[in-house]
Parts: sequence; C-alpha cells; structure tokens
Amino acid sequence: MPFKNLNDVKEHCENLENIAIFLGYNANVDALKYISNKNDLYELLDEKNNIGDVKIDIDKVIENMASYPREIKTPEEFLARLILAMKSGKPVEIPLISANLSPNFKKWLEDLKFNEKRIGGQVGIIANLLSLLNLEKIIAYTPLLSKKQSEMFENKGNHANIFYPVLKKDGKVSLTNINNAYKDDETKINRIFEYKEFDFEFNNEKIDIPRANRLILASRPENLRIDISEDIKKELPEMGKDIDCAIVSGYQSIKEKYSDGKTDEYYFKRAVEDIKLLKSKNLDLKVHLEFASVQNPLLRKKIVEYLYPVVDCAGLDETEIANILNSLGYSELSEKILKDSRIEDVIEASKIVLEKYDLEMIQIHTIFYIMFICKKIEDKAKNDIKIAQLKKSLEFATILASSKAKNGLITSIEDLKMGLDTPYNQYGDLLIDLVSNISNSSEFTEYNIVLVPSRIVKNPKSTVGLGDTISSGAFVSYVADLKNNNVL
Ligand code: AMP
Repeated sequence: MPFKNLNDVKEHCENLENIAIFLGYNANVDALKYISNKNDLYELLDEKNNIGDVKIDIDKVIENMASYPREIKTPEEFLARLILAMKSGKPVEIPLISANLSPNFKKWLEDLKFNEKRIGGQVGIIANLLSLLNLEKIIAYTPLLSKKQSEMFENKGNHANIFYPVLKKDGKVSLTNINNAYKDDETKINRIFEYKEFDFEFNNEKIDIPRANRLILASRPENLRIDISEDIKKELPEMGKDIDCAIVSGYQSIKEKYSDGKTDEYYFKRAVEDIKLLKSKNLDLKVHLEFASVQNPLLRKKIVEYLYPVVDCAGLDETEIANILNSLGYSELSEKILKDSRIEDVIEASKIVLEKYDLEMIQIHTIFYIMFICKKIEDKAKNDIKIAQLKKSLEFATILASSKAKNGLITSIEDLKMGLDTPYNQYGDLLIDLVSNISNSSEFTEYNIVLVPSRIVKNPKSTVGLGDTISSGAFVSYVADLKNNNVL
C-alpha cells in the first residue's frame, strides 16, 4: 500500500507542486436536483403536480420509455429517459437544444426547484481540484467566461494559481487570475438529476435502482463554440513551452451544424491545430483527452478519429470505451462490455484503441477499479519502478474520488483522509488476481496493466465529476513522476 497515512498522501501532493497545466475547453454552472427517495421522484411524475402548471401525461412517459428518445423536447421524453437511467444505474448525459424544446418543457424546467448550484464541466471541476493541490500554474481556458462563471473558479491553493489568457490592448496575451478575467458572456447551465439507490413503482413494475448515479441535461448555447480565438491561438506555442501537460475535453459540445454554416469538421480541425500548436515548442508536453458521454455516434467517432492521433493519453469509463469500440466497428465486443462488464473485454478493447492510435497510455475507470494500460519498458528493473509509480498514481486517484464521493467536494488536502479511510471494494482482491493473470498471458507480454480497486462510498453525497477527478489526479500524478522521478 503506497499510502499508509495522510502524511504519505501530502508528500505525494508535494510532488505535483511544480507542475503547470493547460485545461480546455468546458466549464459551466451545474444546477443540481437531488432525487433521494421515491417521493422525490413521484413529485416529478405527478400528473396533477403543477411544476410550471404543466400536466404530465403518464401514458406518454410509458410510450417514450419504449421508443427511447435520443433528443429530449418534452417533459414526458425527459421523464422516460430519467426512469430508464435510474433503472440502469449508469451515468447519462443528454444535450438540450433550447430552440427545440416544447413550450411546456421550458415552463417546467424554469419552475423546477434545484437544490444547489456549483461549478461543472471538466475544466471547471479539474481546475478547482488542481488548485487546492497547489499546482504551480493552471491555465483554464473556456470560450465563455461570464462573471458568475469566473467567480466559481476557486483559487484555493497556497497561491492564486488558476489563470485565463486575456488579450490586452497592446495585442499581447497575458495570463490573468481567472476571477478577474470575465467577459460579457452568457452562462452555460447544466441541469443534473442525482438519484440515490431506492426502489419505486412505475407502470405496475417495481424498479430497484442498482446504484446511485445521475442524468445530466447539458445545455448547448448557440454561441458556444469549442474554439480559441486567433489572437490567443497564436500564443499557444509559447504557452506550451511553459507547461508540462494539458487535459483537453468538452468536445461533446460540438454540434454537427451551426447557424452560420460552420460544421463539426471545422471545429475538430481547429482543435487538432490547438494541440499541435501547444506541443510545437515543447516536445515533452503530455496531452490527455478526457472523454465524456456522447449521444451522437457520428460525433463520437469524429472525436476519436480527429483527436486520438494527436494526444498521448486517454481517460474513459467503461461505457465510453464500449461506445468507442462500437464506432470503430467492434460492435460485438462493445455489446459484451456493456452487458457483462468483464475486465478481460475492457482490457482487450483498450489494447485495440491503444494500438490503433499509438497512444502512450489508456486509463479506464469503472465503478470497481481504475486501470492504466501502457507499453512496457524493456529494462525489467526500470519497468518495475514504473509499475510502482503507476500504481501510486492510481491509488492517489481513488483516494481523491472516494473523498469527493463521501463529502460532495474536496475542500482541502486534509479531506483526503476520508478517501484514505475508505476500504477497497469487495471485489478488490479478485480484480487484482484477474489482472495479474491477464498480464502474464502471451497476448500482453509487451504491456503493463496496472489496476487499483476503487474505494466505493456506499451512499455518495454526489457522483458528478468523479471520473474527471480520477482522470486528472492520475494523469497529473503520472506527469509529475515523469518530470520529478523519471527513471527512463
Ligand atoms: P464517470 O462515469 O466518468 O463519472 O466516473 C465515475 C467513477 O467514479 C467510477 O468509475 C468510479 O471509479 C468512481 N465512483 C463512482 N461512484 C463512486 C462511489 N460511490 N464511491 C467511490 N468512487 C466512486
């Protein structure tokens, strides 16, 4: 066990303090609605309830459950997808195009009472986490930065470390404390429905929610473009010189077509340019792409085909790797992963993706484990050190995740004691044995497969952002090892 006590964890955090990172592209405000028991759910479903004076048609909800609407325009379509999500216990994210919503659904959403508002989006969640881990510099880039949004970035470390690139009057770009860098922009709000484990009855069926999770209705403002303006873009090579790594995410917000005629291809090509520019003066710069749930299979395929060839590391959950495999034409393996969640299949899938895109590393997180898959170093002694370092990074990531699951948020390094005190889940030993067997098989002689079991919190306060927390913790820790304890 690499971390025996909080001091060991603190020591590990110190290793991250000389790391500088670029984060792009998504931050938003999360409005959270907690569905803690069946009454909370029945309130949403009540035909006579008057959220926005809207009468819910339960028959339509039932019909929609069968037809599984991918785009949501009415309250009944939303409630159907919510019940289906709760039945599966899996995380779901659905884009919401405000221009397409029925007037009823608009009224319903406007009148719905949310329990809490906080920062969301990968850039938002990761910037605040890395700030309190005292990284040297975090450049958090998001195209929209309203005052409200900028205030939600918390410079919580021992120095203000979250910056935003601002174009000055003299044409130069300066990295400014993000709290002072806001513009006259719209605020993007995502509505998140977090449900707990409980059972309820619907349409004469008893439904047992297998696991607390959430459904996200992600807004897609028309003027949100996943892009960097030319003035800032031209500074990316210099910015890249002064940083060690980057985490890119948020491509799920790219739309197939925009009102001005631009297409997804235009934005994907520019996103590829951004990464190449960041790397152009710093060949050691490591770039990690954090995936997210993408409903549209064509878009999903494009994210992978455009961007995986130019990044070094990829972070995914089990559903995401299954969906990617499906886009790449491995539908059988993809279905097996979705249906049986077998680690053997997930490892095979990871190998396919790793090889196809020549990635340095894949990191997979599922409810029961976090895993790195990468190529071995030939020198055995060096490789053993590398494995120990990778394990430590994953261990650190699970501690971050369970601290956040337990407390809802991490407010200081001291909070990590909560995660450290949470034991591995009950399948931990079994998973470690399975992976050690697979690693020793002839198919994987060239690979390191390193797994750490998750520390599952039984009734998590919140599940939003756990994947981002895991991925950023594991990646930054990996980069810090390369920079500070490099054995290669
Ligand atoms: P994602 O689906 O990308 O948000 O990732 C969620 C990850 O968070 C899972 O893969 C788990 O490793 C972790 N996780 C989810 N629920 C819990 C929990 N209750 N306690 C601790 N970790 C959790």
